[in-house]
Amino acid sequence: MNQILDAYKPIWSLKHAISLMGWDFETYMPRKGTEERGLADSQLHILHKDLLLNKNFIDLVELSKKLESLSDLEKGIIRVLDRQITKQTKIPKDLTEVESLLRIRGNMAWREAREKSNFKMYAPHLEKMIEIQKQIAAKLGYDKHPYNALLDNFEEQLTVDDLDKIFGTLTPRIQKILKKLQDSNSPFCKEHKFVKTNYDIKRVSDLNHDILTLMQYDLNRFRMDISTHPFTESMGLNDIRITTRYEGFDFKKSIFGTIHEAGHALYDLQCDQSLSFTPIEGGSSLALHESQSRFWENIVGRSLPFVRLISPLIRNQVNFANQTTDDELYLYFNNVKADHIRVDADEVTYNLHIAIRYEVEKKIFGDELNISEIPEYWNDRMEQLLGVRPTKDSEGMLQDTHWSSGLFGYFPTYTLGNLISAIIDSKMRKDMESYNEDIMKGNLNPIREWLRLKIHQYGSAYAPKVLLDKSLNEGYNPDYFLTYLENKYLGI
Ligand SMILES: [Zn+2]
Repeated sequence: MNQILDAYKPIWSLKHAISLMGWDFETYMPRKGTEERGLADSQLHILHKDLLLNKNFIDLVELSKKLESLSDLEKGIIRVLDRQITKQTKIPKDLTEVESLLRIRGNMAWREAREKSNFKMYAPHLEKMIEIQKQIAAKLGYDKHPYNALLDNFEEQLTVDDLDKIFGTLTPRIQKILKKLQDSNSPFCKEHKFVKTNYDIKRVSDLNHDILTLMQYDLNRFRMDISTHPFTESMGLNDIRITTRYEGFDFKKSIFGTIHEAGHALYDLQCDQSLSFTPIEGGSSLALHESQSRFWENIVGRSLPFVRLISPLIRNQVNFANQTTDDELYLYFNNVKADHIRVDADEVTYNLHIAIRYEVEKKIFGDELNISEIPEYWNDRMEQLLGVRPTKDSEGMLQDTHWSSGLFGYFPTYTLGNLISAIIDSKMRKDMESYNEDIMKGNLNPIREWLRLKIHQYGSAYAPKVLLDKSLNEGYNPDYFLTYLENKYLGI
């Protein structure tokens, strides 16, 4: 095993450099550096693939697969490497190159098309990208549905069967909750004036740092910067960075964006240090990662005890909120509104957006939907599920960047993350009697420790389904999330 980890060091170092370059690209790189960075990035990726597929390295991994009495962590290292090698071997180099070219061009075309809300400008690029993804799915191989090959790229062993079952339960019950809220003219549905109130960016930035201090983030291993699209990037286990953004109005977006990314960061910050420099440092899957960010953002962050905890900080930094009550802040943070844009969606309607993307992607790869039919189909489904019809494509299928970068199969992990966050909440409450009181007092250590022991410490040693079963005794079960919504919003 030591031999493998030694041989892995140059691969780890390349990943470290690629991550740092990615972070820099989104934060401080001068705009004209794009082409140089693009070349450097693609060359490093090729080098990464070459190192991974080096015959000596593959032999080492093959040999270790036959070893007996391996620990769970060692098995995890082999599983992760074997998965990467198998996938990289199946996809020929020229396909990878075409894909990365299409990514750059497609992304540029998508940006312009979205700005002008002109689907036709983007359609030829989308068509090529889908064609390439179909070829990739064929090369990777799959059971039953081609989309399964792509789903597995983002969430190990996730299938169409899993998702059909999940959304089959989730979608109608969320629709019911939404309808009840709307019909009863619930206070959750009243839009607060803060949504349109401008704020002082410096003060809200200070507020974000106050909240992170309260959550005890160690600034020797962690930092926060600003970017257009907030994200978390880990260079390793001791250099983890998040970003946030300041739109200048509706201050809740900035603080909950910050808490969301901080939740991602905590996963990596609490991985066991013995996993440093190994292929299993960092989270088990995208869904598990999203469960951590959503847990802190929604389940803890938007709860009344947490509102009570941070409301003095808010009143101190946000001058127009200095007379606002905790209950009023709570309603502002939890406003429910069926609308067009996924990233702005509340926790009730959010997964309906994902249900539509899932349906569309499944149909695309099942050859049931042509490119030209997507906008109409999308808008129809928005109207049926959310009751709002996009009037332009920038409010509809052009709103997200994922497809332009070839990320088909990614969206469902957002919903899985939400489902897991509610499972965690339910299990944690059973283990911790003073859960609410602890949050209200700012004693977040028991929660952090619970997450560390059950999830964070293992990194990606276990495949997501295995970890869920082992630590939470559950699968991607939607019932917990639905019960959580019904309790919170309907008081059931
Ligand atoms: Zn996230």
